[in-house]
Amino acid sequence: MEHILIIGGGVGGSLAHDLTLRGYRVTLVERGELLSGTTGRHHGLLHSGGRYVFHDAETARECYEENRILRHIASEAIEPNGGLFIALTDEDLSHRDRFLEGCIAAGIPAAPLSPRQALAREPTLNPALLAAVRVPDAVMDAWRLAMAFFATARANGAVIRTFCEVTDLKMFGRQVAGVRVIDHRSGLSETIGADLVVNAAGPWSGRIAAMAGIGVPIQPGPGVMVAVRGRVTQAVVNRLHPAGEGDIIVPQRRLSVLGTTAWLADDPDQVTAPAEHVARLFALCAELVPAVAAMTPHAVWSASRPLLQSSPNQDPFAISRTFDCFDHAARDGIEGLVTLIGGKATTMRAMAEQTADLIVRKTGRDFACRTRETVLLPYRRYWRGDI
Ligand SMILES: Cc1cc2nc3c(=O)[nH]c(=O)nc-3n(C[C@H](O)[C@H](O)[C@H](O)COP(=O)(O)OP(=O)(O)OC[C@H]3O[C@@H](n4cnc5c(N)ncnc54)[C@H](O)[C@@H]3O)c2cc1C
Repeated sequence: MEHILIIGGGVGGSLAHDLTLRGYRVTLVERGELLSGTTGRHHGLLHSGGRYVFHDAETARECYEENRILRHIASEAIEPNGGLFIALTDEDLSHRDRFLEGCIAAGIPAAPLSPRQALAREPTLNPALLAAVRVPDAVMDAWRLAMAFFATARANGAVIRTFCEVTDLKMFGRQVAGVRVIDHRSGLSETIGADLVVNAAGPWSGRIAAMAGIGVPIQPGPGVMVAVRGRVTQAVVNRLHPAGEGDIIVPQRRLSVLGTTAWLADDPDQVTAPAEHVARLFALCAELVPAVAAMTPHAVWSASRPLLQSSPNQDPFAISRTFDCFDHAARDGIEGLVTLIGGKATTMRAMAEQTADLIVRKTGRDFACRTRETVLLPYRRYWRGDI
């Protein structure tokens, strides 16, 4: 059976699960600990798709479909607590009809609520709210969800090597035949041969592509998040407007995550969490839930979205959150290399399905995807040592 080597242990690395179910031999290499890139650091919103209905209908549809599948295959990583979009100004209110129409078009169940109904559900909301809409948002544990994919992949035979950084591609002319890695535990370099290499290095995928002398349309788009102690609401709260800064609060276990800002960066390794972003997040999120104004940060961090760039210098909030996978044989004349870019944690299974379908076509096999109905192993199994 063909040997597929995946670079990157984040959302994109969940491809290991799909490929092992289809019968491939799989190795995944990750330069740090699993999820040490963007995936271990996002809000943890299991999107209903509502956040994207204004400008990104394709992503909205993808999110709702995957939201339903993940609730079934990874229920222990998900809290089905729902979400509200709230209007605070006349301008917000003017978006409501378009929001509801967008939800209907994307197949997302959305129910308008009066201010009184919204406050009955979430008494800490800004009492001046003008309207609300309920959607099937939920909260995922970013680590547990992804680790459930890796636990299942490993139980099905995937070899997962952490602290193993790709330093170059092994190439014969225009054919990629594996990777050169340095194992940071031993300090030793080695070559790992493969029939096909998948570049799933998220915001770093441009660096991997450059090793083959080609470019990919990746745009790192960092954002800052702040955790405060306590759950300021039980449901996810979003502002009813096209996605922008400081317009979401995600309750995560006994914390609440205030999100987020967005800008464009060249190097995901040099991204910081500027103090002025933190101040803006408190000010904007306090408009949603006034009690936030009196809180202090429990934790502040940033991460880079691996955005699929369609044109340079776009508004980072307006860039589509959809994904794509590229066969570099067809695109650049480089055989043996596939790149997966974009997406969301919410769409991780779908990203893997589309990439694995491409690999099935490339390898001339006829294996169907089974991840929609395969319930994942508990995330704890990854560390139990019995797989
Ligand atoms: C601020 C913010 C908030 C977000 N909130 C949400 C949310 O609430 N819900 C949601 O669904 N999505 C959210 N997202 C999106 C989601 O987090 C990302 O789309 C997803 O985590 C990206 O996964 P990835 O696998 O593409 O990248 P990564 O998780 O970064 O994985 C790539 C991996 O490749 C590794 N790597 C890089 N170079 C090498 C090398 N040379 N050798 C070996 N390994 C290498 C990296 O260490 C990294 O672990 C958010 C993103 C951001 C930035």
